[in-house]
Amino acid sequence: MSDAFNERLRLIRFRRKRERIRFRDELRIIPKWLVWTCITLSVLAVIIGIAINLVNIKTGGPIFPDDSLRGQPLLSCLGLAGVIIAVSFFVSVLLFILGYVYRDAKRRGMHPGLWTLLVLILSAGYVFIGLIIYLLIREPLPYTCPQCATTVSARFNFCPNCKYNLHPACPQCQREVADDDKFCPYCATELHHAPKPPTEIAPTSNP
Ligand SMILES: [Zn+2]
Ligand SMILES: [Zn+2]
Repeated sequence: MSDAFNERLRLIRFRRKRERIRFRDELRIIPKWLVWTCITLSVLAVIIGIAINLVNIKTGGPIFPDDSLRGQPLLSCLGLAGVIIAVSFFVSVLLFILGYVYRDAKRRGMHPGLWTLLVLILSAGYVFIGLIIYLLIREPLPYTCPQCATTVSARFNFCPNCKYNLHPACPQCQREVADDDKFCPYCATELHHAPKPPTEIAPTSNP
């Protein structure tokens, strides 16, 4: 139990150290078709709403958002458009969040359907809490092995292709150290890393 918790914390630290999230890049993950569907439906809703209002002003039917605006068709239409845009904006943002979570969970090797459902259920109670929980505990993105460029999961300790140690530990205190640390940041033991791959060795300058 505590091992699983420690592993989770390690993955979160790993992700925070490695991943620089840029909001613009994250927005691109939201499916384009979802964005266009939301925009189209919102515009349609405004057009239909205004059309119904205009018909009802002539025929004496109920006027939205307020019946006292019957004498002012422009004001009533603007008010109605405002209400529809506000509601569809809120619904769209929620759908964009779900679309983002689905795709992001998929590329991180998590259960996309399960996480989308969880975020949706939590959003019913507290608007962004599901998204915040997801962002805090999501898995790190797969990355490339520094030695052979195979794609590896953040959960791997060694590269399955070339046996490269992906999480070097200090031989003295066994805590994880960075690839380029010369000394252990916890106990100051001098660290000797495995030599870099031959591809990185500079060409010899012998005559
Ligand atoms: Zn490798
Ligand atoms: Zn150490």
